[in-house]
Amino acid sequence: MTTLFVSDLHLEAGRPEIGDQFLAFLAGEASRADALYILGDLFEVWVGDDDPNTHYAVIKQALRELVDNGVTTYFMHGNRDFMIGDVFARETGVRILSDPYPVDFYGDKVLLSHGDALCIDDVQYQNARRITRDPEWQAMMLAKPLAERLTIAKHLRAESIAHGAMIDQSITDVNQDEVLRVVRDHGVDVLLHGHTHRPAVHAIDLGDRVAKRIVLGDWYEQGIVVRWDESGPELCEMLRK
Ligand code: MN
Repeated sequence: MTTLFVSDLHLEAGRPEIGDQFLAFLAGEASRADALYILGDLFEVWVGDDDPNTHYAVIKQALRELVDNGVTTYFMHGNRDFMIGDVFARETGVRILSDPYPVDFYGDKVLLSHGDALCIDDVQYQNARRITRDPEWQAMMLAKPLAERLTIAKHLRAESIAHGAMIDQSITDVNQDEVLRVVRDHGVDVLLHGHTHRPAVHAIDLGDRVAKRIVLGDWYEQGIVVRWDESGPELCEMLRK
């Protein structure tokens, strides 16, 4: 039996081919899995569960079918879809996890995270993160009309792209000391996250033991999935059909 992990699909109406690939994945491999974990940034932007976006509606329906077929499905917020809320969870049957989330897989202690909280060198981003994850800020946003929220999201996205283009690549990656701290504090064997779009399996030398950091990849050129069964985790690339 297999548990599957994906992240950073960034689904949006403008890239229907990735949506189709994800729908095929849900109807195929995921439907035969024990459980599916979506570790954030499933959607390119999420301004509230009341958004009637038809592309999102198709994805929600497919998640509902997966859950109804008995595949327990978990979702963790990313930095694009952190406004996904209880209505989405009710509609899809997906269970929302806090970040980070500790869990045991086949004898390994694992910490799941989206990964953006590990990128502490990007001070400007971390400040923005603190503000936008505040329940009061979110309630203020959700009180605005949908059209206004979509406009604000577009502006924030443009600012984020401009910010990303200005700073060094190393700034937007995880901070190694923060990785060590998190792995030690939680006493885990594996840290599994996405966000950086740099898929890899890294060894983390803790002095007295070696842990593992598995980084999921995005779904722009291909789909990246981690398959985890009794023989351990495996990072795989699914070429588009
Ligand atoms: Mn992200």
